[in-house]
Amino acid sequence: MHEMSLCEGIRRVVDQAADRPDVTRVTRVRLEIGKFAGVEKNALSFAWEVVMRGSKAEGAALEMIDLPGRALCYDCMKEVEIAERLSPCPDCGGGKLLPQGGDEMQIKDMEVV
Ligand SMILES: [Zn+2]
Repeated sequence: MHEMSLCEGIRRVVDQAADRPDVTRVTRVRLEIGKFAGVEKNALSFAWEVVMRGSKAEGAALEMIDLPGRALCYDCMKEVEIAERLSPCPDCGGGKLLPQGGDEMQIKDMEVV
């Protein structure tokens, strides 16, 4: 399950960020997930609970924020949002789109106490 290794990567970042004497516990982590990142959210929530055990983020809420897929359209030269990776341009109907993102996953911010 690749969500497990994703969470391990997140744990490393969170651990590092929370490694300060004034941080007792991480209560919430906001994660931005691109529409095309291929992340299975249920699996990610499950992996989250397992992977965070024993860290300062044990029991922290995981908030997942969807990022839209974006692409540059070569027909109208606009940056547009697309629903599917192979969708035509929603503006002009053109099919020559260069994806500009949507497959990223990153921590937006986190709350600590
Ligand atoms: Zn277009």
